[in-house]
Amino acid sequence: MTRAIAYIGLGANLGDTVRTLNEAVHALTKVPQITVQQVSSMYGSAPVGEGADGPNYTNSVVMIDTQLSAHQLLDALQRIELDHGRERSHRNAPRTLDLDVLLYDDAVFHDERLTVPHPRMLERAFVLLPLYEISPHLTWLDAKGQKIILTDALPQVIGQDIVML
Ligand code: ATP
Ligand code: CA
Ligand code: CA
Repeated sequence: MTRAIAYIGLGANLGDTVRTLNEAVHALTKVPQITVQQVSSMYGSAPVGEGADGPNYTNSVVMIDTQLSAHQLLDALQRIELDHGRERSHRNAPRTLDLDVLLYDDAVFHDERLTVPHPRMLERAFVLLPLYEISPHLTWLDAKGQKIILTDALPQVIGQDIVML
């Protein structure tokens, strides 16, 4: 059975965010086709993006290997989000739990449900810093097939307001 390496971005900004992220990682470990390989520290940052509001975010990144396809993985992540009472209102709205597929092996694709690599990850310190913590030598291909070197991408987000918790 082939296994893919994937990186998942976790975020929460309502309720007990640290507890929610710990529970989300635990929930990932309970999925039979997922093995959690690495878990970053948690990071705190202010909400960003159009329509973003509410309290600060807590974020982390998890590296898994999985027998799930990328779409099956998204299904599993959305189930875990729902288990944590996520309600969808507007984009970037405050939420108890947000789980994004950042990278799925070296896949590059886009359809109505899923874009991989995550199209906004390069703009986000709360993604790149925890990624760097667990995989400092990480490289990947962007949507244009261009090689991204994580350490080269970091300087663009270094001014963002973020702390390791
Ligand atoms: P952002 O994508 O900028 O982080 P968000 O996480 O707040 O924003 P959501 O409301 O959680 O956005 O998701 C909207 C939709 O995005 C989801 O229903 C899902 O189908 C789609 N989507 C596309 N690509 C991805 C991805 N790589 N990971 C998770 N969801 C994705
Ligand atoms: Ca997100
Ligand atoms: Ca999301």
